[in-house]
Parts: sequence; structure tokens; C-alpha cells
Amino acid sequence: MSKLAQRAQKLFIQYLRENNLKVTQERLALLEEIFSTGEHLDADELLARMKSKHRKVSRATVYRTLDLLVQCGLVRKSRLGREHYFYEKMEPGGGHHHMVCAATGKIIEFWDADLDERLRRICQEHNFRPNFISIQIQGLSEEAQKLEQETTFF
Ligand SMILES: [Zn+2]
Repeated sequence: MSKLAQRAQKLFIQYLRENNLKVTQERLALLEEIFSTGEHLDADELLARMKSKHRKVSRATVYRTLDLLVQCGLVRKSRLGREHYFYEKMEPGGGHHHMVCAATGKIIEFWDADLDERLRRICQEHNFRPNFISIQIQGLSEEAQKLEQETTFF
């Protein structure tokens, strides 16, 4: 486990105890899985990953644990695209935005310090204190644009 994952586990255990929730192997295994990848996972993908590792976790446990991880600030939940929620680990200083391809579902992460500063200034102008800034741009990835050209006659 990475240092970040170890720290996250410590915080998660603390959070569970403080809230009189059980520290179970399933919950810890789910946290470990999310922190072992840089990918954006939905609940089903997470369930499939656990299955492939022969770790028995119910769908209900996956959803419940994801909620807890989001509540204690260790996991970020974003609605990327249409019907899906995706989950990814929170990283210190790892704020980023997303571009989502409407055709392929591809997710591109980006970050721009100037843009961030500009947004914070706009918040200030409105006397608004931002906790978290997240931008999502929907459109077509390079691959999807090419595919579109190939399948268009006129
Ligand atoms: Zn992301």
C-alpha cells in the first residue's frame, strides 16, 4: 500500500470508530482498491474488481462504503457524463477538472493554476467562500471526432 493509502486507511478507521461503525475487512479492502488506482470507477466496476480478486463484497456494502468514504472526505464523487457517478481517491493538492467524451465516455483530467486563481477571484467578488471547485466540460474526444468524420457522408 502507498503512503497515501496508509494514511487514508488510518483516517477511515478513525472515522468509523468515531461514528460507531464497524471496521470491517470489506470496507478496508474497498478503500485499498480505490487508492490502488488513478482511475475513475463507478460502483459496478468496483464490484467487478473485488470479484476478480475473490473478495466477497455485496453491492449494498459497496454503495454504503462509498458513501462513507465520500462523507469523510477521502473519496471524490463526480457525476461524469449522463447517468453515472464516478469515484476516485482524494489527493492532497490534487484538485483537477474533467473533460468527458459524450461518445466514448473517456475522461480527461486537467488543471490550470491561472484558471483556479481567476475562479477564486470571481468567488471573492461575490463574497463567496469556495470549498471545492470542480469544472466539467462535456464534448467529443479526439477519437470520437475522428469516428464522426469517418461515418459522416456529407
Ligand atoms: Zn478525476
